[in-house]
Amino acid sequence: MQAGVRLLDSDDGRRFDFDPGSFCLELLLTGGPVQVHRTELLRGPGDIVEWVVQSRLARVAALDDVRVRPSELRELKDFRDVMWSVARGVARGDTVDREHLAHINDCASMDLNPELDPDTGARRWAAPITGDQILGAAARDAIELIGERASRVRECVADGCVLVFCDTSRPGNRRWCSMRRCGNRSKVKAYRNRQD
Ligand SMILES: [Zn+2]
Repeated sequence: MQAGVRLLDSDDGRRFDFDPGSFCLELLLTGGPVQVHRTELLRGPGDIVEWVVQSRLARVAALDDVRVRPSELRELKDFRDVMWSVARGVARGDTVDREHLAHINDCASMDLNPELDPDTGARRWAAPITGDQILGAAARDAIELIGERASRVRECVADGCVLVFCDTSRPGNRRWCSMRRCGNRSKVKAYRNRQD
């Protein structure tokens, strides 16, 4: 599976693939405020290290030697909670809270630096990679997303599904988190309605 596409568990026990379409939205899958009922996946700094090497940042360059301190993990989670609220608001066409925008701006100062491996010439992120840099990458991605692609930020149209994604398809007509889950359910429902 491509980095940044995540396998999630459905409530019926099946797994489905979900591409959030952007790094800051991918971070939302690791947990969130109580209203969104997501299991917390980032219980310690080691969890974010494991998570980030499978993230879409790894599509651009290899991530080696990631070091995250507990205080950096807390900041990442605070950003994630803000991002949940912002992303849902943007998807619904609401005006984003000024404090939330300021929070995102404040987080954007640190960034990852790309470099070439002197032995292989392959592209990689300069090590060590810190939690602040991961936060910075997420905040910069959020700035680009909200500033340039706000109309592509969507909530899955299925009832009760809270997943938010950026529609990166060319026609821009993505409606569901995943065809394997909500897309399929919707088709089955439409079929049954036709039979009634
Ligand atoms: Zn869905």
